[in-house]
Amino acid sequence: MLELRGVSKVYGRAAGGRVEALVDLSFEVKPTELAVLVGPVGAGKSTLLRLITGEERPTRGAVLVDGTEVSALGARGLARLRRNLGILAQDGRLLADRTALGNLTVVLRALGAGRNEARERALAALVEVGLGPARNALPHELAAGERRRVLLARALATRPRLLLADEPTAMLDPGMSATVTTLLRSLALRGTTCLIATQAPECARALEGRVLRLEAGRLRPEGDPV
Ligand code: ADP
Repeated sequence: MLELRGVSKVYGRAAGGRVEALVDLSFEVKPTELAVLVGPVGAGKSTLLRLITGEERPTRGAVLVDGTEVSALGARGLARLRRNLGILAQDGRLLADRTALGNLTVVLRALGAGRNEARERALAALVEVGLGPARNALPHELAAGERRRVLLARALATRPRLLLADEPTAMLDPGMSATVTTLLRSLALRGTTCLIATQAPECARALEGRVLRLEAGRLRPEGDPV
């Protein structure tokens, strides 16, 4: 489903110098697997997710989704790839003038769902993240953690084959973190491949997935304790 082959990413700094954000990474995530990318701030987790969505290109190596090299895709190919991905990014944004429900239906409609189907799937996703009662709230009427959950619901509503989530439990209280963690685990059980990035070891443990430990852009051998 997802494969990295010898992937490195080097950023040039405006002030001069360069940062090796990722160094020669190779790993595979199999269909329906839940993989957890754990590492401290600056380890390269967000960079890695951006290589998978095609927002960035690797300096060396290849990222393959379903056997297709992401950096070889043109604009159309990238759009098609992203339609199959559920993305919860760190800097994910909601449309300010649409309700929680509206933010989901607009995406589903754009993907071809009819009006009723879009509404049903959007509502079901909001209920799954515990936001059914807040469906008619505008983003500014929601707390930061609630907005994160709307973003997660938006990623889920599209029923992606591969879900990429960057810090899915950030800004959530312990009870809600547990709800989201359980939700992600059940998604994987129902067949969605998941790659979840987190700096929180307790989140990684709770997800009970396969742990990929990233430190300073390098992958630690598997089997090391979190
Ligand atoms: P994480 O998500 O694990 O916190 P990041 O992928 O955001 O890590 O960052 C990894 C490293 O790459 C850090 O040293 C960061 O400063 C650097 N970095 C990330 N994005 C950029 C960028 N656009 N330009 C320059 N350096 C970057």
